[in-house]
Amino acid sequence: MSVAKRVISFHYTLTGADGEVIDTSRDSNQAFSYLEGLSQIIPGLEKAMALLNAGDKRKIEVEAKDAYGEHDDQLIVEVPKAKLPNSDKLEVGDQFQASGPNGEMLLFRVLEINGDNVKLDGNHPLAGEKLTFDVEVMDIRNATAEELAHGHAHGPGGHHH
Ligand code: ZN
Repeated sequence: MSVAKRVISFHYTLTGADGEVIDTSRDSNQAFSYLEGLSQIIPGLEKAMALLNAGDKRKIEVEAKDAYGEHDDQLIVEVPKAKLPNSDKLEVGDQFQASGPNGEMLLFRVLEINGDNVKLDGNHPLAGEKLTFDVEVMDIRNATAEELAHGHAHGPGGHHH
């Protein structure tokens, strides 16, 4: 990799398939900053952002497969309540990490509690959704050696140490 990595700062408003605003950086004056090439933002957005220049405003549509993935019915599982941590205090909507079918760590949400069993969903809440990002590129600069060593952007919108 001889290409210099860049730090890109941008404002965004994220809307879901139904047009509902899911998240926005406009609530604060702080643009979001990321270091290129490290999958710090979803793949479809990173690919589109790489072609933009500072000052550009774009509406970027990202299909589910390039965002949080397709919805996977196999990640909806029913397990005995007793197998879960804090089983006596479980509530619908609770989240916890557990290994998925391929051994990868997934965040599971409690969908239903049915007596001694609990129905869990290991899909990302935005899985299966086509997302739209209204972006404005605020700044693009080369990453510093320190940022490259740490693997994240520093300064406004990035990490503070
Ligand atoms: Zn750092």
